[in-house]
Formats: sequence, structure tokens, C-alpha cells
Amino acid sequence: MEIEIHRAEVYTRVSNLPRHLMWVTNTVQINLDELIQHETGAVTVLGSRRIRLRPRGRGFTPRQLAGLLRDEHVPESPYLGRKIALDINQQFAFDSSLQQQQPVFVSVNVKLIRERTLMPPLPPPDFLHTPPSSSRGASSEVFQRLSQEQGVKSRDLVGKNETQCSICIDDLSKTRENIIELPQCLHVFHQDCLFEWLRRQNSCPLCRRAPYEL
Ligand SMILES: [Zn+2]
Ligand SMILES: [Zn+2]
Repeated sequence: MEIEIHRAEVYTRVSNLPRHLMWVTNTVQINLDELIQHETGAVTVLGSRRIRLRPRGRGFTPRQLAGLLRDEHVPESPYLGRKIALDINQQFAFDSSLQQQQPVFVSVNVKLIRERTLMPPLPPPDFLHTPPSSSRGASSEVFQRLSQEQGVKSRDLVGKNETQCSICIDDLSKTRENIIELPQCLHVFHQDCLFEWLRRQNSCPLCRRAPYEL
């Protein structure tokens, strides 16, 4: 079975507009690339766009940015709106040279990546007699520890960076299903989606780290 994992790479840079452009309002310029990454490593570029947003008023809210992105028909606008607003506000918080009262120019590079990958095959039922291999599914201890120790509540994800289950592309901050946060990489998934994957391969679907290091 082939599944599609969606992930976004976002790089945000905030700077004040130069003095002679001070009359200009806040601008968020987004360079958006959409691409498919195939199992073989080949990449198909679906399209590239440059989008200019002009948020009104002071401050950048996830809601306003998500709305502007939705108007531009950008996929996954709720996630991107949150992520970009968070990036901007973090830079304001940590970079004291930025003047929040003056208009800013925000440049954002976004790669929306759809990674086509095969759901790894289920290991043979009796793998006592097969040599160890990385394609083996997680042990029952891993499942047990994850469900006992790594459950998170959807409300705890509100305002966090990553709130999307990359396997089914659902917003985890609104789900009623069980959510698991992997202990090493902190990637989050529906428990059902993740366990389906881990039965086949003992690694994070996004970054391929093992849930627990031995
Ligand atoms: Zn899911
Ligand atoms: Zn991960």
C-alpha cells in the first residue's frame, strides 16, 4: 500500500523595512514550492508561486495569516498560518533589534512536500528464525510504553508548531482520537495511524528515528 506523507519545511525571516519605505505596510512574502518526493528519491515539482500578503494592524495572528493564505488558495493554510505567525512572534521576542512598531518585511520560504512512500510490509509472523533487520516492526514493549507514557491531549497541542498527523493529514488539535508524541523526535500522530506504521517498521514515519534508542 502506498501512502502519502505531507510535510512542510518553513523558513521565516523578519526584518524591518528601510526608513525610506516606512510608509509601506507590513508585508509577508511567501515563496511557495509544492513538490512530490518519490520513494526512489526523485522529486517532481508541482509548481512554484510567490505570494504577497498584507496583514492589517499590528501583530501577526495565526488566524489572520491562515485566512489570507486560504484566500490565495494555499493548501494547508491553517497549519501554515499558525507556523508563520509563531515564527514571526518568536523572532520579535528574541531579536531586540526588531522594531515591532515599524512596518516589517517577512520573507518566508515554504516547501510543501508530499512524500510518496510504501507502507512497509508486515514482518513475517514468526521472525524468531529470520535475521534481525531494520524493516522489522516495533516490539510489543514499544507499543506498551508509547501508549502508557506518550499520550497527549489534543488541547495540549493548540498553539504548538506541529499539530497535524502527517499520515492522514488531519488536524490533531481538534481530534477526539488518541494522540501519541514520539519521545525522541516529538513528532505527533494519531495512535491508530502511528501503530499501523510501527507494526511494519520501528521508526518515525517523518524522520525515521526509532521511538526508543536501545
Ligand atoms: Zn492520523
Ligand atoms: Zn520523528
